[in-house]
Amino acid sequence: MTGYNFACKDIGMTCGFEIRGATSKDEIFQEAAAHAKVAHKMATIPPDVATKVSAAIHA
Ligand SMILES: [Zn+2]
Repeated sequence: MTGYNFACKDIGMTCGFEIRGATSKDEIFQEAAAHAKVAHKMATIPPDVATKVSAAIHA
């Protein structure tokens, strides 16, 4: 399987959300931000969370 993957639980969230096969890290960030806004009540992604997301993205 190709592409970038990310799962909320990878950054310590109790959440089943995950992204599989994104074509870029930007796509992950966009989808994760949209998800976080709805599911985690984050209007914007705090810098510390963004750092965790970046570290948790794996190909
Ligand atoms: Zn989540």
